[in-house]
Order: sequence, then structure tokens, then C-alpha cells
Amino acid sequence: MHEVQVFDDVHDSIAFTIIFPKLIRGSCVWDSGRAAVGSRFVDPPCSECGKYWAHSSAGNPQVATFATTDDLSGPQTQIAQFARNPFTCFRYARRMRLLIAVLFCLAVEPIGLISQTTSEPIIDVHLHALPADNNGPPPVFICAPYDYWPAWNPQTGGRGYEGLIDKKPPCATPLRSAETDEELMRRTLDIVNAHNVIGVASGPLETVEKWKKAGGNRILPAIGFDPQSGKPALSDLRQLVISKRIMALAEVTTQYAGVAANDERMEPYYNLAEQLDIPVGIHMGPGPPGVIYFGAPEYRMRLSSLLLLEDVLARHPKLRLWAMHAGWPFADDTIAALYAHPQLYVDVGVISYAFPRQQFYSFIKRLIDAGFENRIMFGSDQMVWPEALSVAIDVIQNAPILSDTEKRDILYNNAARFLRLKP
Ligand SMILES: [Zn+2]
Ligand SMILES: [Zn+2]
Repeated sequence: MHEVQVFDDVHDSIAFTIIFPKLIRGSCVWDSGRAAVGSRFVDPPCSECGKYWAHSSAGNPQVATFATTDDLSGPQTQIAQFARNPFTCFRYARRMRLLIAVLFCLAVEPIGLISQTTSEPIIDVHLHALPADNNGPPPVFICAPYDYWPAWNPQTGGRGYEGLIDKKPPCATPLRSAETDEELMRRTLDIVNAHNVIGVASGPLETVEKWKKAGGNRILPAIGFDPQSGKPALSDLRQLVISKRIMALAEVTTQYAGVAANDERMEPYYNLAEQLDIPVGIHMGPGPPGVIYFGAPEYRMRLSSLLLLEDVLARHPKLRLWAMHAGWPFADDTIAALYAHPQLYVDVGVISYAFPRQQFYSFIKRLIDAGFENRIMFGSDQMVWPEALSVAIDVIQNAPILSDTEKRDILYNNAARFLRLKP
């Protein structure tokens, strides 16, 4: 691991003036390709440049740790592309006089930046447009990933456990949440742009619309429904769909209230969605660990089973439904439901970036080995930690268990088919 300095905005010309003298003196310099954040390696000599790549913790805080790898192919293509430019530049620079070298480097550098915006598109079907205090007063933290889930002494009460998870989480460099609504939107949209992402963004209508205004075509607006409160009313939802202010009903989080996906109170909403031919995304999977004791007393893990969807899908054969979080960890039930209901899709929200990595790969491998690579969609479940989106993308792009074709299917093709977006 190597310590690096992180610039706030590598695209800023001031950052270049900082970067290039370093380059010419022989340090490795490249853009991380993430979050509009530039990174400067402090210690590796230039001959080692190709062996290092930015780990996804880049961005926040100011000093991040980077992992090393000998493999610059596949998932790190973007970084490698960028890295090659200054690296090549440096090789030439060594042979040239300083002034010529600087001009040459400045001419080469933008090619790397362009590679970010022309990278292959990604669809995130599980993005959120939320207020910054959605997960409690900021800052809150999240491990990406948690390597283990802490045990809890029940004497300290549920809030004590919540603090273990999101105030002092058990990892060296947790992601820190944005402090304000504006910062959360801006930082997330920077990452959305840098990675060429189109995101189905759900949250309160007002926030979603604000993000849509700022993010343009990259934001596909969605809101959920709640049969217990009856809000929004069915007639309002219908109007929002018809006027194209929303393009999906998501995220439906009734599991937190103990309302199962097959609860009869959900029926009017399924009817509406089927009639209007609009996708429905339901949370079926994990909440924060221990959430029953500090936030959602009615949440039940067992409602994550995708087999609960069977009667719903049979009753509404034209319904376009996806299970957010893929019914983790009930892989058997997910496989069974995907098999019996070929119209059903899943996303990998939160389980990709926050859950123990090898476990996530085993879970997704099970679905792929069972033949469902065409029904798994990339979803980040980025809530209040903008860099979670970068990590979530990395986890797929960097997955040792996925072929290049499977990565593209998960990152784009499957969602494009499900959402009926033009390729
Ligand atoms: Zn969820
Ligand atoms: Zn979510």
C-alpha cells in the first residue's frame, strides 16, 4: 500500500500545474478516473508506474491508500489508458529539454481525460437522490466493504450497535457521507459523469426532480410507494407516470415495515404499474445489520426471499419487476424465482460494495453458474456516500469471477433491455 495525495479536481488547470513538474521530476502521475479526483503517487519510481492503480477509496479524504496490482488489463482499463499517457510522456520527457517536455506533456494529457467521457456506458438501476441526513445526521460512515459484522452487547441498546456500524465502522478508511444536500448531489453527479453512468435515481420526489434538473439525461427519476400511508396516492402516481416525471416505481421499501412483496395491499400498485407498463423495483434483501433494533422494528429478513414474488408475477404476467438487492442471501430462492419467472430481474445494490467481497462474488457466481447472467443488473444503492458508486463499479469491473461479456451485461446490456433504453 502506498500513500498518495489526492487533488480535489484534476480537471482544473491549477491541478495540472501541480502535476506536471512532479511528472517531469519522475514521479508517477495519473488520474484515478473516478469522481473527478486526481491522484499523485508519492513514492513509486516511474519504472513501476504500470504496477499501481488507484483503489476506489480515492476521493475523500485528502490522503487515501492505494492498492497495487500487476494487472492493468480489464477493469482498470480507464486508469491504464490515462496512466499510459503521462507515463509515455515521462519517457519522452526524459529525453527532452524541460520546456519542450512541459509542452509535450500538456498536449498529451487531455487524451487521457477524454477517455473518461468516452468510456462505455453504465446503467445504475439503484441510485438514490436523497437528502444528506437520510441515514442520520452527517457525517455517517460506511465500510466499502465491511470485512466482518461486529458483534453487539444487547445491554448497550440498538443505538449502540448503529454507532458501531455507521459512526465508527470497523475498517481503516470508511467512506464519509456528504455534509449537505447540495454536496451530496454535486459529488454524486461528478462520479456519474466521470463514469458515463445513467442512473435510475429514487428518493423523495422533490429531491429526485432537483437531481434530474442538475443531471439531465443521466438521471432517470423514480419514486416508491407505501400502501400503509397511501402516499403518494394512486391517482398521483398515475399522473406522474403519464406526464413522464417518473419512469419507475422504486425503491419500494415496504420490507422495512414488515409488509411483504406479496401482501395484498400492494396489489393496486402492481395493477397500476402493469397497466402503465412501468418498471417496479422492490427492496428484497438486507437492511443495515441489526436495523430491527435501531430503526425498523418491523423489518424481517425472511421477506427477502424472491419466492414471495411468485403469486405476484403469476397474477401480473406483464408486470416489469426487479428485485433490488437480489434477495441476498437466499441464492437458492433467487435462482428458483429467476428460473420460473423469466421476466424477473435483480440488482446488486449495496451487497456489491459494502458486503465482504469474496462473499459477494460467491453469491453472484452462483446466479451466473445457474445461467442468469442476462438478468443481473448493476445497481449501486449509493445513498449518502458518493464514492460508494465508484467502489460499486470497481467491484464489477474488477470481478475475478466475471468474463468481459458478463461485466458488460451486468453493467449495461441487461438494464438497457429491462428498461427498454435504446442501446
Ligand atoms: Zn434497498
Ligand atoms: Zn436502495
